Amino acid sequence: MSIKHALSVTRAADFAAWYQTVIAEADMAEDSGVRGCMVIRPWGYGIWERIQRLLDDRIKATGHENCYFPLFIPLSYFEKEAEHVDGFAKEMAVVTHHRLVQKDGRLVPDPEAKLEEPLVVRPTSETVIGAAMSRWVQSWRDLPVLINQWANVVRWEMRTRMFLRTAEFLWQEGHTAHATVDEAREETMKMLEVYRSFAEDCLAMPVVAGEKPENERFPGAVSTYSIEAMMQDGKALQAGTSHFLGTTFSSAQDIRFQNSEGQFELAQTTSWGVSTRMIGGLIMVHGDDDGLRVPPMVAPWQIVIVPMLRDQPEDAAVVDYCKTLQAELAKLTALGEPVRALLDLKAVKAQTKRWGWVKKGAPIVIEVGGRDVAGGNVSVIRRDRLYREDGKLDSQILPRSDFVAGAAAMLEAIQQALHQDARARLDASIRRDITDFDALAAMFADSVRFPGWAEVNWARPTGAELDAVVERLKALKLTFRNVASDAAPADGACIFTGRPAVERILVARAY
Ligand code: AMP
Repeated sequence: MSIKHALSVTRAADFAAWYQTVIAEADMAEDSGVRGCMVIRPWGYGIWERIQRLLDDRIKATGHENCYFPLFIPLSYFEKEAEHVDGFAKEMAVVTHHRLVQKDGRLVPDPEAKLEEPLVVRPTSETVIGAAMSRWVQSWRDLPVLINQWANVVRWEMRTRMFLRTAEFLWQEGHTAHATVDEAREETMKMLEVYRSFAEDCLAMPVVAGEKPENERFPGAVSTYSIEAMMQDGKALQAGTSHFLGTTFSSAQDIRFQNSEGQFELAQTTSWGVSTRMIGGLIMVHGDDDGLRVPPMVAPWQIVIVPMLRDQPEDAAVVDYCKTLQAELAKLTALGEPVRALLDLKAVKAQTKRWGWVKKGAPIVIEVGGRDVAGGNVSVIRRDRLYREDGKLDSQILPRSDFVAGAAAMLEAIQQALHQDARARLDASIRRDITDFDALAAMFADSVRFPGWAEVNWARPTGAELDAVVERLKALKLTFRNVASDAAPADGACIFTGRPAVERILVARAY
């Protein structure tokens, strides 16, 4: 039985077009006048607010405090650290003037108002926060410094895609300073684990946490760790990063402290961030051919009530019934928080509303018509299982009291079902039997649609030898993802160098 789906493009037909269609049809975001910058609409921003709320709680529970630093960073701050400025120079937006003047009927920067020192629109804040830490830290008693900020950043990316890679994006960036290497490394791993568990528990998005190889490190980092998620087309998405920065930034910004023996030492710093990219991941992990499916924990509205109104006097009774239902639902707690139920009273046909909420991915859609009111029932659509086996929409009629009594459990079941589906897909799509480069090339041949990832033995080459390996992978459009923290030990020869392998690394196409 073929189903007529709500979207005009399916994942199988054209995954990239499907992704853009979901964003448009779910009213999540749209293009702005500026290339690479997007307007995030309420449904997309509502998901971001949920992400912020849940992640912020976890960031604070691990001892960090929020603060705010300026959008503009003096260019000289970047010049203090060569590797960092090299990494970001090619994508920095720079402010050079502070005033416009009329010239030949147009507004142009006033040559008289040129800034003495250009200001960079922050691409990340290690430098400016490092300068502040240098003021704040004098003695070992001032450490650790554990701060975070929620902000927008700008990286002038050439190839942009909504949510996944934008020129301006929203994120949180954590920055910490510590007295010892051990403590800073512990912090780096602690926040990686916060990201891993947040992705799994809140976004229902399974990820692999592990260390990036040298060529994928953040500019200036000693070690970079990531969480990597698998999209439904088998590509990887780096969904968050945690960096151990050693003394790179403390030496550039002079974050120095007197230890308990009275000697001066440089602090050890870390930084870590996740961005609106997470929403792109959410779409490509949970979306289907009817649109988005939002896990209940991050759904702005978890249950949407759609009254079936007919412009008749009976409508008033339907609306009253729906209001009572909404009030009953609002008293419930699910997944640790009050249930978020919306009564959609917009003057739009019920059928259009139903499919609008299906495309947006509200976890549960309730429809109420005159007959439901008379029978004390509701019609329930679960977004994670939209169709019955015969291909018909699975709309279940339940007594209202039964639905209310089971609503919290239903939301919890949806959260779990989405996670389990995605987890099963990830586990089934990592190949561990690739033992030579030719087999890797065959796995990622153009004819293979959704190849997934390969985990292969490697000898962790460095420098020029690593560059050569990266080039060979690039020819196959492949990248290194990470060495999973829980990977099995190496068990053979490196598929790139033939030398005994030291660990196993994930290789994949990536966004
Ligand atoms: P980074 O500071 O480079 O480690 O970036 C932190 C996180 O921000 C990355 O792990 C990505 O998830 C995300 N990110 C980086 N660049 C972009 C971008 N252009 N658009 C959206 N998210 C990004």
